[in-house]
Amino acid sequence: MTSRLYDLKAMLPGELNQLVGELEEPAYRTRQILNWLYAKGVRDVREMTNVSKILREKLAERTRITWLHLVRRQESATGEAVKFLFELPTGQRIESVLIADGTRRTACLSSQVGCPLDCKFCATGRMGMIANLEAGQIVDQLLQVNHFARGRGEKVTNVVMMGMGEPLLNYSAVARALKLMRLKEGIGLGGRKITVSTAGYIPGIRRLMAEDLNVGLAISLNATTDQMREQLMPINRKYKIADLLAVAREFFARRGYGVTFEYVLMAGLTDADADARRLAELTRDIPCKINLIPYNETDADRRFRRPSCRRLEQFYQVLRGCRVEFTVRHSRGRDIDAACGQLYHRREK
Ligand code: SF4
Repeated sequence: MTSRLYDLKAMLPGELNQLVGELEEPAYRTRQILNWLYAKGVRDVREMTNVSKILREKLAERTRITWLHLVRRQESATGEAVKFLFELPTGQRIESVLIADGTRRTACLSSQVGCPLDCKFCATGRMGMIANLEAGQIVDQLLQVNHFARGRGEKVTNVVMMGMGEPLLNYSAVARALKLMRLKEGIGLGGRKITVSTAGYIPGIRRLMAEDLNVGLAISLNATTDQMREQLMPINRKYKIADLLAVAREFFARRGYGVTFEYVLMAGLTDADADARRLAELTRDIPCKINLIPYNETDADRRFRRPSCRRLEQFYQVLRGCRVEFTVRHSRGRDIDAACGQLYHRREK
């Protein structure tokens, strides 16, 4: 918390109820406050005009409402991706993305400023770890992205915690935000419409499984040997591919639905026929989805390349030959650096 005041946007209904009780107000005030926060998007308790003036004053003394300052919004040429640059009260900046795909509108949200995991192919990883986001700051990204979508006659249908940061390293804030996203008084997203994406931080996966949040889990695999994965993702020194496969099996056994393995295809590194065969072998007995992501090149780093169309097609053929079902993520927003692995902020002078 940046302030000792309660952040209304980060309070669960039970906590808000308790506060309303402490302020000697009837319980229905909780619903009113939630409605002001989520349906009307107020920035200040003084705007809650159907709440008594006395309560507004009491709330103003004890609470605040997180509101991220929108610095810039960029739309891709096709309109399929919109990138939002927000500034925190500390001056640090984060990005969120709205992605349109058929009738689906997915908000890709950040959980940290920067990221400590230093995946070599990721623009955010090059920033290093700067700060964890608060729950209210995660929820507010969704509210503002959804507000924009509503202005276009749409609404956010899905959330992926796949923006800046490793969400499971900011577990408490992320778990709280996920609960808030599901509130029927708020955005009301179904659990399975929310996916948490991890680079493979196993203690966080275990915590997520134990907490029964009923959200989807995506694990960024990105290589088929520990040697290559360690080169690309230093976290693999600690949590090996075999550990990830074991926890994916456990996830299915406990939750009844499988994880998604994300696999970024990088020319000459992860796109060989042998990789396709190993990927099929590694995941053969695990109920899971496989999502292939052809690498999105950035101007900031030319070390990694997107495979040619021919190579990609050959990789897919080998997988099909191994009877592996997979999807390919056709990245939207490459022209505005809003595609996977491209979120990065360099503060303008
Ligand atoms: S890929 Fe994810 S976990 Fe890895 S450095 Fe980037 S933001 Fe962090």
